[in-house]
Amino acid sequence: MCEVMSQQTQMSRVVPYWQDWMRAWPDAAALAQASTAEVITAWGRLGYPRRALRLKECAVQVRDRFDNQLPHTYEELVSLPGIGDYTASAMLSFAYGQRVPVLDTNIRRVLTRAFAGVESHGGATKPEDRQLAEAVLPQGAEQAAVWNQATMELGALVCTAKSPACQDCPLAGVCAFLAAGRPGLGQGRTRPRQRFQGTDRQVRGLILAALRELPAGESLGQADIDQLWPDAAQLGSCLASLDEDGLIEIEPGGGAHLPR
Ligand code: SF4
Repeated sequence: MCEVMSQQTQMSRVVPYWQDWMRAWPDAAALAQASTAEVITAWGRLGYPRRALRLKECAVQVRDRFDNQLPHTYEELVSLPGIGDYTASAMLSFAYGQRVPVLDTNIRRVLTRAFAGVESHGGATKPEDRQLAEAVLPQGAEQAAVWNQATMELGALVCTAKSPACQDCPLAGVCAFLAAGRPGLGQGRTRPRQRFQGTDRQVRGLILAALRELPAGESLGQADIDQLWPDAAQLGSCLASLDEDGLIEIEPGGGAHLPR
């Protein structure tokens, strides 16, 4: 659950939500029983709320296919809703102590720079990223898990995308990228920081926040919905996309409610 919540949300924001979820639904069977409205409400302002639906679908499958226990193989994990390569690898390494390379953006950047001597270009994970991560991963499972965590942390705090603090880096003495004069530094930042104000994400968040605040089972009327955002066309398309995603249900009379 924690890995899914932290996929696109800062860890400091995730912690209180994760604690609440674990109190409410301590295992997959409990989460599988929760209503869709309950999980959307509990997701709060974590963002990208479709993840909440995937978690519930995942819980149903863990309960039904795996006797309420998360599986311990890569193939079984990635067969579950909402679990991709990164999440499966992180669970195998961090939770189960298996020797598995974990590849997130930060780890790929550190490894590509330090061992291949070139700037990391982001995008989808390539076979050569995987080969490099496997080649440099310590042989012992315990050391491999520490390595994954340390490399991830190094990428987040020291070997950052735009301004790596090479003077503070424990790899400075062996880093091929630093030795080469850091060629093309920063050119790997292919994804500009997304603005939020005025986006559909903001409007969808406003709609969901208004619905979450209602007493359980109640609806928001059309007039109240119209007050949420001045651009009626954008508001309408966001309502439709939330309905399509299964996050809300639009009523025939124009109101909306969380799925029942
Ligand atoms: S020396 Fe600089 S470029 Fe190399 S891994 Fe450390 S922070 Fe990154």
